[in-house]
Amino acid sequence: MVDLSGMNARLKPEIDDAIMRVIASEKFIGGEEVNMFAEELGEKLKIKGGETPYVIPCANGTDALQIALMSLGIVSGDEVITPAFTFISTVEVVALLGAKPVLVDVYPDTFNMDCEAVEKAITKKTKAIIPVHLFGQCADMGRLLEISKRTGVPIVEDTAQSLMSIYCNGSGLSGRAGLMGKFGTTSFFPSKNLGCFGDGGALFTHDKELATKAQAIANHGGQIRYKHDIVGINSRLDAIQAAILRVKLPYLEEGNLARQKAANMYDELLKDVDGIEIPKREANSTHVFHQYTIQVSGNQRDDLSEALKEDGIPTGIYYPMGIHHQPAYKNLGYRADDFPNTNYLASSVLSLPMHTELTNLQQTRIVERLLSRLTN
Ligand SMILES: *Cc1c(COP(=O)(O)O)cnc(C)c1O
Repeated sequence: MVDLSGMNARLKPEIDDAIMRVIASEKFIGGEEVNMFAEELGEKLKIKGGETPYVIPCANGTDALQIALMSLGIVSGDEVITPAFTFISTVEVVALLGAKPVLVDVYPDTFNMDCEAVEKAITKKTKAIIPVHLFGQCADMGRLLEISKRTGVPIVEDTAQSLMSIYCNGSGLSGRAGLMGKFGTTSFFPSKNLGCFGDGGALFTHDKELATKAQAIANHGGQIRYKHDIVGINSRLDAIQAAILRVKLPYLEEGNLARQKAANMYDELLKDVDGIEIPKREANSTHVFHQYTIQVSGNQRDDLSEALKEDGIPTGIYYPMGIHHQPAYKNLGYRADDFPNTNYLASSVLSLPMHTELTNLQQTRIVERLLSRLTN
């Protein structure tokens, strides 16, 4: 599914140097490497002519979401709207804070949050909306920002899968994924488009006050050692991870381009195949293809995935069930047949190998095997 060895081999001398530099500095938590990485990522995310965002590194993408919600003052009894079709983190952090996750369905073609459903889900208790820019392209931020502006409910963008993606709609709104709402959050889990050699994450914001608060929350709720102004957590990015990320950051766009090229090739090979739907390109967003996810019709997704496994071809199912089917979230009170698009996607999505090292030959073989295993 993911091949990290190519890039790691190409960057080995630089990565070795970076790691040795941190060991020599004896500064393992925080410090120069972490600050420099935050600055460099901010510069990278900035859109030409726009302002550089504040970047707050933290321990992982799940913490980034939690810190964002804590910074916005989400507490017990509040409601936070999230998609039903997402990785568990998006919902988990809401529940951890004692707030209530309010699930909405997604669009069946882009896999992103249904804005109509968001509109309907808003109540007096709604304190945040978390769109997830799933698989690499932006949710309909134009609509969501309009809702946010009208209702005063802030948006936290889960950008774990879509770092560097750009939203741009016909009415002149354009922005970087993660920089359009109050907060954006991301993950540097090794398989993400920008991955480190362990866990890592970050938050972004244009709001100085929120940035200061988030920074404090990530570090036990204080700016000065042994002084704690608010209740915080321990969520810091290791200096070694920051140093590795600084080596990899300059290659992020090149990597995204390689993914887009691979996606175009899959599109070409699969576009006219009966029983397969290729991922829709959202007209208002670029796509950085964290995943290349097709839909397999006729209830044959699981058999196809098993058959491909026998042929030595890995595939992924992101995600095999909606959040409302997860045992831990039964208490939210949803019914099994709520969120029909999510339910259909959970039974039909199949992600094909997608990474920066894919060759045309590999892709041709993957599709050859897929076609031969598909029973029309
Ligand atoms: C990976 C991911 C996260 C969590 O990131 P971690 O660093 O693993 O905590 C959150 N949301 C989405 C959509 C993700 O894909």
